[in-house]
Amino acid sequence: MHVLIAGGGIGGLVLAQMLAARGVAATVLEAAREVRPLGVGINLLPHAVRELMALGLLPALDEAGIRTRELRYLNHLGQTLWAEPRGAWAGHDAPQFSIHRGQLHALLWRAAAARLGERLRSAASVVGFSEDADGVEVTLGDGSRMRGDALIGADGIHSTVRAALHPADGGVRWQGIQMWRGAVSWPTLWDGQTMCIAGDTRAKLVLYPIGAGAKPSERLLNWVVYARQADAGPAPPGRQDWSREAPRGVVTPQVAHFRLPFIDPAALITASAMASEYPMCDRDPLPWWTRGRVTLLGDAAHPMYPVGSNGASQAILDARCLADALAAEPVVPALAAYEAERLPKTAAIVASNRVGGPERVIDFVAERAPQGFTDIDQVASHEELAAIVGGYATLAGFAVPRT
Ligand SMILES: Cc1cc2nc3c(=O)[nH]c(=O)nc-3n(C[C@H](O)[C@H](O)[C@H](O)COP(=O)(O)OP(=O)(O)OC[C@H]3O[C@@H](n4cnc5c(N)ncnc54)[C@H](O)[C@@H]3O)c2cc1C
Repeated sequence: MHVLIAGGGIGGLVLAQMLAARGVAATVLEAAREVRPLGVGINLLPHAVRELMALGLLPALDEAGIRTRELRYLNHLGQTLWAEPRGAWAGHDAPQFSIHRGQLHALLWRAAAARLGERLRSAASVVGFSEDADGVEVTLGDGSRMRGDALIGADGIHSTVRAALHPADGGVRWQGIQMWRGAVSWPTLWDGQTMCIAGDTRAKLVLYPIGAGAKPSERLLNWVVYARQADAGPAPPGRQDWSREAPRGVVTPQVAHFRLPFIDPAALITASAMASEYPMCDRDPLPWWTRGRVTLLGDAAHPMYPVGSNGASQAILDARCLADALAAEPVVPALAAYEAERLPKTAAIVASNRVGGPERVIDFVAERAPQGFTDIDQVASHEELAAIVGGYATLAGFAVPRT
């Protein structure tokens, strides 16, 4: 069997390595000419890290990223409304990682290159495909063609494969929330392994360290600010390009009302070399992903709001499911089994992320106590908060295992 994978992003590169580990040949066709360290921070949840550990990638992850130890939800005054251990500290058999997306991509690319050799191709944009009884033929941007037994569209939120399967797809959806992001070397906060999400119904500030800083006393601190800028609509502003620069003067007013005792958000944003903007967007879940020998994976199949740390993790879980299926069965039933397992689960996460995912806990408290609180128990019970945060973990498949 020879599997063609359109897209050498996080999902495509992991799938190729998993297939190679199971003795299935795969070729990755990546449109970009070179691998550049694009993006800012990204989180990998324990159930996805477990899959990367099985590929022997734990040392590389430890070298590039930070094992996330704790997650805190705070209001805009810095008062803690919920804190929980993460990864191995929460009882999982694998850590959670906070990591620079460009470094994660680079380490996955190196690992895939070691396994695939010339079957990992850059400057290979998939522009079309056709299917017959024996296989799939892919057309590349330079006009060349390649045959395989299956085609996996792992080509991201603007997927060409998805567009061909679903020409009437409604396109990228925007709920009116703009996101700005950056990273800068900053004095270490707390234990240097803690992630926090602070805010209220107006704006959220996400902070997590993703690597070593310029000095031993600092860490490379990833920040994200997001706030509603418009009513929900089908058309987000501009193309969803993770590298588009935003004027700093637009970002700092969003968090001007924050009074956090441990950081001045405006100073953090101003100190960053670059702030990029990315609208919080997704697509409506599809009724099906698979037609015969062709299917979708990761953002091509189920782009979701980047809340709850799930985008990359769900792509990796897709890859595991698909690799197992392809190693066990002929192509057509394997792809159907993969879709039956993964489509409903990921569609539920897309829907939950649209209403805030676990970060909804911040709005829940802010609506009851917009000016802050002296005792969180008088604002919301532990059970109410646990239902929001723990309910999401169960939905996304990373609830702490019960012993
Ligand atoms: C440049 C970039 C930067 C990002 N930065 C962040 C970030 O900072 N934080 C975050 O949370 N998420 C970020 N993401 C999104 C995140 O990587 C994904 O949500 C998640 O990892 C799911 O991975 P994926 O493999 O499905 O998609 P992606 O990681 O988006 O990978 C899709 C790949 O397909 C390639 N491709 C597209 N069209 C074609 C085609 N026609 N033929 C061949 N190849 C094609 C793209 O070049 C890309 O490499 C970024 C994505 C990209 C592409």
